[in-house]
Amino acid sequence: MSKPNVVIVGAGFTGTATAHDLALRGFDVTVIERGDICNGTSGRTHGLLHSGGRYAVKDQESAIECIDENMILRKIVPQVIEPNGGLFIAIDEGDLQYGETFIAGCEACHIPLEELTPKEALKLEPNINPNVLTAFLIPDGTFDPLRLALSFAASAKANGAKFKTYTEAKSLLMDGKGTVVGVKALERTSNQTVELRADMVVNATGAWAGEIAEMAGASVPVKPTPGVMVVYDQRFVQRAINRLNAPGDGDIVLPQRRMVVVGTTSFEIDNLDYVPVIEEQVQLMLERGAELVPGIRNAKVRGKYTATRPLIGAGEGRSAARTFKCYDHKETDNVDGLVTITGGKATTLRAMAEKTADVVCEKLGVHAACATKDTPLLSYRQYYNMPN
Ligand SMILES: Cc1cc2nc3c(=O)[nH]c(=O)nc-3n(C[C@H](O)[C@H](O)[C@H](O)COP(=O)(O)OP(=O)(O)OC[C@H]3O[C@@H](n4cnc5c(N)ncnc54)[C@H](O)[C@@H]3O)c2cc1C
Repeated sequence: MSKPNVVIVGAGFTGTATAHDLALRGFDVTVIERGDICNGTSGRTHGLLHSGGRYAVKDQESAIECIDENMILRKIVPQVIEPNGGLFIAIDEGDLQYGETFIAGCEACHIPLEELTPKEALKLEPNINPNVLTAFLIPDGTFDPLRLALSFAASAKANGAKFKTYTEAKSLLMDGKGTVVGVKALERTSNQTVELRADMVVNATGAWAGEIAEMAGASVPVKPTPGVMVVYDQRFVQRAINRLNAPGDGDIVLPQRRMVVVGTTSFEIDNLDYVPVIEEQVQLMLERGAELVPGIRNAKVRGKYTATRPLIGAGEGRSAARTFKCYDHKETDNVDGLVTITGGKATTLRAMAEKTADVVCEKLGVHAACATKDTPLLSYRQYYNMPN
């Protein structure tokens, strides 16, 4: 019997992780992506492996997803993670007061934390604000975004998944009875239009998910919400430094390779395909970043970039939940053959894939359990068939 066949649109974190899960469960998987792997938000993310601390007070569903997935990713893909930990630091009275709520939130979400005196915090991180009042050590980490997605893609490929990059979905093939039966796509390199038939199409296009769903007359309540990041030319800290307070603009300084990246903001846009870098926001990153790590004020800017969150949770901007959802469009719009997975975080990519593959299995009557929690991922190099 031939394997059920799934076409995934989008090769960011969500699409590559879903390809891995479905390929492991025995599906015939083809991923199409209009650019290269990580062409969208995933290629421009901050790179914080969330412990969940950031969401532990106001968004505990996301916080629990983050801590659980953080621990799993450390096990299955250690080659792309720097397990450097994170500090939440208080630098004014308001931050200090938030401390109690923070401890209660972390406890409720089983996020381990250790309180440090200012002296202990400065010993670990001599370049943070010398007026630090208290600090909490939590299991944040950093990851290399491209290598993370490529590790999932390499593992999917090893189980037979095919990746067609530079191939853009232009429309969805319908059977005349309201069921999606494939994708019509433009291969950018040859300028040819191809038709890819599928038992199920998975829409993993993140912030663009609404555009793909609309091709079938369906809809997704995704709120594209960009943010800016600014890169400075020195690695001032070894850990993720967070402001001990409710999530706000410019309140994370993250070490990446020999630099630090300060992020981020949260705003609305009209054009998903052109998100400007707004100079006032760049200035705000400098101001806020320098409150946490004063040396940033005299550092050189190496880069500025924006990326767009695919938010689906209730609330607006900062207060919108960071959780994810898999939409079976048969249930939401009476359109069969199409599921959309969006929302979430880079940190929760594996869980998002598991949920999606469960829905696909159920819809196609396939009995195959998820195995990704315990399957070590290949090196990103193997995506390109390069030796390790
Ligand atoms: C500013 C910012 C900072 C963030 N920082 C963090 C962080 O530190 N830690 C964390 O865990 N998460 C972070 N996130 C969240 C995380 O980056 C996103 O949740 C994640 O990248 C979304 O991945 P995705 O695969 O769903 O979407 P994307 O990466 O956007 O992938 C969708 C893909 O679909 C493709 N596509 C679109 N339309 C078509 C089409 N018609 N045909 C073919 N392909 C198409 C796009 O090219 C794109 O590659 C951050 C997000 C933002 C915006």
